[in-house]
Amino acid sequence: RARRAGTRYGFATDSHGDLDISDQWDLEVQLGGAVERGEMLLNFQPKLDAASLAPVGAEALMRWNSPTRGMVSPAVFIPVAERIGHIKKLTLWALNSALRQATQWPMAAGTRPSVSVNIPGMLATQPDLPELIEDALRLWGEGVQLVLEITESSLMDARLAFPVLKRIRDLGVGISIDDFGTGYSCLAYFRDIPADELKIDRSFVTGLLTDPSCADIIRFVVDLAHRFDLSVAAEGIEDVETRDRLRELGCDALQGYLFARPMPQAELVDWLAAQAPGDAATA
Ligand code: C2E
Ligand code: MG
Ligand code: MG
Ligand code: MG
Repeated sequence: RARRAGTRYGFATDSHGDLDISDQWDLEVQLGGAVERGEMLLNFQPKLDAASLAPVGAEALMRWNSPTRGMVSPAVFIPVAERIGHIKKLTLWALNSALRQATQWPMAAGTRPSVSVNIPGMLATQPDLPELIEDALRLWGEGVQLVLEITESSLMDARLAFPVLKRIRDLGVGISIDDFGTGYSCLAYFRDIPADELKIDRSFVTGLLTDPSCADIIRFVVDLAHRFDLSVAAEGIEDVETRDRLRELGCDALQGYLFARPMPQAELVDWLAAQAPGDAATA
């Protein structure tokens, strides 16, 4: 099985084909003990304020460093973890680990680092999620702004998700709706949605310079969001022209390879320190 690992599960190819039964079984067994064996790690991708281009914090992106498969993408293992009932364990590990590491980030004086953690759809409706977050904040939340990124498509059942998200917001946690524009939000949601930010899906950002409908959609989302007191983040920015167009269109926060790729904690600390020489060194 390990023979084929690189092409099937690695970052090089995003498509992973159909797994035969024993491959599938092996992946599930290995993933089951990955946290305990210390194989999970977080990369962090900075998020910037659109006006000043100063870093506001970073998003935690999970990786699985499997001894037999190499680096496994979350696009592969998150759906498996959801299916075999390990997603809660993985998410709690990511949440605690991200908060703990964020307390070490050197930010400009007076800036509380914001740390974003992705929450899978199936947890967003679980009534015990607010308590679990409260526990993590009690341990590691000092001086850090936690933001949870929840995909738009996981809010389909608003009756289940909204009350849970409301309780989480009451803890002072920010809620960002990830991959926005790819789900099927009902416009009436915007009256009640317990969120602080819409994060526009990368597909609209990628098409911005070539496809006029992408600009129209982003303009519409920004207008809608601002009317309902939500800020707008854009992800997947890879060039300066797209960055500047997004600033013109009124986006509030920016993220993408143009600024920084997802990177391990040690690199992020250096990157942050280099952004604000002088006042960051003392943080
Ligand atoms: P996402 O939350 O929408 O994260 C953005 C993805 O786009 C990340 O991929 C990031 O590395 C990539 N990206 C960022 N900037 C650029 C860019 O400029 N160009 C391009 N081409 N790509 C860019 P990644 O790290 O592979 O994560 C994929 C997805 O897996 C995430 O999408 C998220 O839905 C999920 N994921 C990652 N970490 C976690 C986690 O801890 N928990 C859960 N539940 N899901 C996670
Ligand atoms: Mg995200
Ligand atoms: Mg996204
Ligand atoms: Mg990004």
